[in-house]
Amino acid sequence: MPLKGKKEEVSMVDISTPIEFRQVEGKSLFLDPRKEYQLTEEKLQVRYDPLTGRTGHFVRLGAVKPQRLPIESYSNPEVKGFCPFCSDLRYRATPKFPEYIFPDGRLSKGEALLIPNLYPYDVYSAITIMTTEHVVPLERLNEKVLLDSFSIGVAFLKRIKSIDPSLPYHLTDWNYMPPSGGGLVHPHQQCFATQFPGNQVTDEMRCSKAFYKKHGVNYWKELVRIEQHRDKRYIGGTDSSHWLASFVSLGVLGEIIGIFPDVYSIDDFNEAHISELVSGIRRIFSYCVGKNIFSFNTSLFFGPENQDFFSAHFRIIPRTFLNTRDHASDLCFYQALHQEPVCVVMPEVLCKEVKAYFIGKN
Ligand SMILES: [Zn+2]
Repeated sequence: MPLKGKKEEVSMVDISTPIEFRQVEGKSLFLDPRKEYQLTEEKLQVRYDPLTGRTGHFVRLGAVKPQRLPIESYSNPEVKGFCPFCSDLRYRATPKFPEYIFPDGRLSKGEALLIPNLYPYDVYSAITIMTTEHVVPLERLNEKVLLDSFSIGVAFLKRIKSIDPSLPYHLTDWNYMPPSGGGLVHPHQQCFATQFPGNQVTDEMRCSKAFYKKHGVNYWKELVRIEQHRDKRYIGGTDSSHWLASFVSLGVLGEIIGIFPDVYSIDDFNEAHISELVSGIRRIFSYCVGKNIFSFNTSLFFGPENQDFFSAHFRIIPRTFLNTRDHASDLCFYQALHQEPVCVVMPEVLCKEVKAYFIGKN
């Protein structure tokens, strides 16, 4: 069936915006064996990212639901294997930074320890070992662990910026539990200072700059303003941070984005911002626990200094196996080869569900 284009419905009281939320509806027809081969239609939707114009598919795949992980078994010696982040190995088996970066070789705060990556992805590539424990379920990734981990990651990035200001981008990433892609289940984050932040950020930077030039406003601030007004994907926030369900989700089970409209480069990100980030993450964790979500990827992006069109933002996508029989991952040819996100959770539904966890104190 041909796909029909339409703009998202806009109410009469809506205010104008240069941001266009474009989506195309479609349906696929087949004779359904579950209904004695009656002609059946399955709806689908393709959306355009309002900033980059890249598309994403929304489909109904009943088979995709979060799979329970045998987390309890990950500490068993035969499963665990060698972990350089455990016990005093974190001091004996991990590298140190050269003295000109950190005289003590590493950074620490509470349980968190920041070290260079023995297998760096980029010129400056650090790992934050978040906890002393090897296996920490979501419920036990508490406020202190998160605050300490993000704090030393940010401190590292600020330090690198001060000694090598030629690198414009600063990122903090996190793969948590399988199938997120982390090599160890021991909780750890990664921090990068780089000239090459990846295709997603590169596209966002280029399009944010073009949006600002064309419309005279910061895209991210305008996105927050219009999403808050429309109240379909706006989850919650404060004066300085805002959480939304993304119009196009990069994850199969949806995506939540936290925007810091007045933060542009890493130097703008202060302790209060870190607290807000952690508060938002903990609320999302509560949603994940309620949904039996065990794994995720996150990324926190900071742009270059001396610009005001690219605001810092944090993305989190749940990850899952499609099944644990043969451990089929939720990443398939679509994402890997077509570079096309596929999602089975509508952002408006995700927003409603997550919003319940943003009401009240955390
Ligand atoms: Zn460990």
